[in-house]
Amino acid sequence: MTRHVVTLNAGSSSIKFALFEAMGKAGAETLSALAIGIVEMLGDERRLTIHDGAHTKIHEETWAESAATPFHADALRRILTWRRAGFPRAQVIAAGHRVVHGGMHYVAPVIVTDEVLRDLQALVPLAPLHEPHNIAGILAAREAWPHVRQVACFDTAFHHAHPFVNDVFALPRHFYDEGVRRYGFHGLSYEYVTGRLREIAPFHAAGRVVAAHLGNGASMCAIRDGQSVASSMGFTALDGLPMGTRCGQLDPGVVLYLMQEKQMSAAQVTDLLYRESGLKGLSGLSQDMRELEASDLPEAQQAIEYFVFRIRRELGGLAAVLKGIDAIVFCGGIGENSWHVRERVLEGMEWIGVELDRVANRANAQVISSERSRARVFVIPTDEEAMIARHTLAVVDQSAEA
Ligand code: ADP
Repeated sequence: MTRHVVTLNAGSSSIKFALFEAMGKAGAETLSALAIGIVEMLGDERRLTIHDGAHTKIHEETWAESAATPFHADALRRILTWRRAGFPRAQVIAAGHRVVHGGMHYVAPVIVTDEVLRDLQALVPLAPLHEPHNIAGILAAREAWPHVRQVACFDTAFHHAHPFVNDVFALPRHFYDEGVRRYGFHGLSYEYVTGRLREIAPFHAAGRVVAAHLGNGASMCAIRDGQSVASSMGFTALDGLPMGTRCGQLDPGVVLYLMQEKQMSAAQVTDLLYRESGLKGLSGLSQDMRELEASDLPEAQQAIEYFVFRIRRELGGLAAVLKGIDAIVFCGGIGENSWHVRERVLEGMEWIGVELDRVANRANAQVISSERSRARVFVIPTDEEAMIARHTLAVVDQSAEA
């Protein structure tokens, strides 16, 4: 019997999923990617697109949205039907879920129980853009596969061992004690690229690394000997770098101004900071870096300029935390593909020990620093799905041993 591990990353208007085959003996399996797909809400339509492990499109279907069917359950049913038809003899042994916020207590992946679900529900206010959809994905999967173990994998977990100074806000102490802390996110991505760096360049991986996950969400992380020690993201996934639609670092006085002087409600401020700001808000054009790079609008170019400026500031700050750097890693849609952003981030960074190889950078090569550069710069495609699948299998194997 072939065994499958499914991963799900449920957002508000999309569910990304991946299908892996677990091969070998229980407890020592290897995972092979069979398919990666997405269900998207597109106006009145819903669309399922699936690629195989070699990135070739193998399936696409579109159907009309039905208000009667909640999105996540509907999406999962389509995924399930496709999987059953394609792999009639394979059995799903576990489903792994990306969960953005694990709070103070979830510092490692766990099997989802009713108690875990209650705890995750309590964390919704800390990640209102993500956590409710992550939970909806878990609930839909529980219903679809009632006998399959569901594993929650947290984006915050990789950062759990931050030193106090990197976790604290200078508020009265009781806030820290009750969990008002800098958690850090994109942990699954950082964990994956850290593991890849260990394979590609073990010497550098054991040193001082700054990783930049630059996608629709964007953050940076200081890593020493494979361990996260600081992150640009904070209590929520709003802080740090500007993102597709999120503002990034903001003087809290601005929020007070919006509420007191502009009479904006908390819901309006939430919407502004999460959905209308960042590259989209600054450019007035788009949240999509490709569109901004192709545009002649001064506002589009200024939005990119601000994005680059904040990354450079953060790089300097994280290098100071690490007392120097041995490597930089770029990942995420922008980090992996935009040579333009990388070139501008690394311009004039010789003082930090980085010299760019412009040709390698423009070719999106794996190593984009020059031979002379003291610190090495890597472009490493991230794979959060693979990380979730590995964690999921490990947790399920452990629970079988116990
Ligand atoms: P998410 O955080 O939703 O997973 P991604 O990691 O896929 O997002 O990143 C999406 C971002 O990557 C978008 O801003 C997109 O424009 C950008 N991107 C993808 N390909 C390129 C490219 N070739 N050049 C510049 N930006 C790109």
